[in-house]
Amino acid sequence: MKISIIGNNLTSLILAKSLANKNINTQIFHKKKTYNIKSNRCIAITRENLKFLDKNFVIPKNLINPVNEISILNEQNKNDEILNFKKKQNLIFLIKNNDLIKVLKKSLKKIKFIEIKNSKFYENLLNKSKNELIINCENNNFYNKNFFNKKFYKDYKSVAYTFLLKHKKIQNHKATQIFTKYGPLAFLPLSNFQTSVVFSIYKNKKLINNSEIVKIVKNYNKLYSITSVSKIEKADLIFESARKYYYKNILLFGNNLHRIHPLAGQGFNMTLRDLKILVKEICKLKSLGLPINENFNKHFENKTKPYNLLYSNGINLIENIFRIDSVIKNKISNKIPILINKNQKLKNILMEFADKGFNLN
Ligand SMILES: Cc1cc2nc3c(=O)[nH]c(=O)nc-3n(C[C@H](O)[C@H](O)[C@H](O)COP(=O)(O)OP(=O)(O)OC[C@H]3O[C@@H](n4cnc5c(N)ncnc54)[C@H](O)[C@@H]3O)c2cc1C
Repeated sequence: MKISIIGNNLTSLILAKSLANKNINTQIFHKKKTYNIKSNRCIAITRENLKFLDKNFVIPKNLINPVNEISILNEQNKNDEILNFKKKQNLIFLIKNNDLIKVLKKSLKKIKFIEIKNSKFYENLLNKSKNELIINCENNNFYNKNFFNKKFYKDYKSVAYTFLLKHKKIQNHKATQIFTKYGPLAFLPLSNFQTSVVFSIYKNKKLINNSEIVKIVKNYNKLYSITSVSKIEKADLIFESARKYYYKNILLFGNNLHRIHPLAGQGFNMTLRDLKILVKEICKLKSLGLPINENFNKHFENKTKPYNLLYSNGINLIENIFRIDSVIKNKISNKIPILINKNQKLKNILMEFADKGFNLN
């Protein structure tokens, strides 16, 4: 059994490492430059998914900041939270994307990395590896364009602005999400001195000036004594969900399967849930001595696609509700979250759902 992974991103590296740990013959094909080394982007990983990562490679503790409380506020209640999630255990863990990439690259010394130089590479690989699995984690390549161009698509008509705040020392284990009139604004604690900001601004607010954005964020900030602000990164936000997960022996994977709004910090967590299932199913096949073929891809699609569609549409529903809420002056968020806040059982279910997706057993 041989597996070819395409891409040099978080998804492909974690997948390669998880498969190599199970003694599955894996190689990575990648273009020269695939990620922005200077990026400040951070990622919130759920407890359940961090457990999975910890089983596969060592992430130094100093690179991860645990969050044990999440506070939700809205435009009219900037000081009093409308909803609060707290547990004895930590809820999510913040890490810089690039730190995770560096740790992974160090741990992947035994895997073959092959640079793609030939423009016919994708066609050649498909022709010569009919009985092997090709997992495509890369976006915008020959496979995406030719075999996977049909997607469920939605433009969120929002731009995510991400940057880091440096601030005076504070016990920093509480994340805050404010549903502002401009769009959702998240403060995600990275360390006692640094906090990541993700501000998803509705395009109709026509905020284009970075200093204007920083000024607004500073106005909403009630917690941090800010000393400096990093460069701002921008991303147009879209929803995408693949209609087909496979073509012959090519399996689409990672962000290629689903891209969602970052308001719940679930995009990469969904990928990690898919990844766990994929590795488990590949191992099952290997132990039975069966070959990997199109049927395997179909089986994976059946196991994951319905739940992924449901989960990502749930995120779309939340995004829609808060978008409407921002227009009708928080008439929804002043009532429903407050009711939820009084019901600890319901909150426990929601926290489990955010942690484990549909795998609640
Ligand atoms: C602002 C922002 C914050 C995020 N925060 C979290 C988080 O806290 N927890 C989590 O689980 N996931 C989060 N995600 C999703 C996560 O960033 C991606 O799933 C992850 O980076 C994929 O990494 P990769 O290296 O495997 O993929 P790559 O193929 O390298 O792709 C990553 C690229 O996709 C972009 N991207 C991801 N989702 C979208 C989208 N809906 N619209 C437009 N571009 C998108 C990213 O900006 C990045 O450039 C966030 C996404 C964005 C845009």
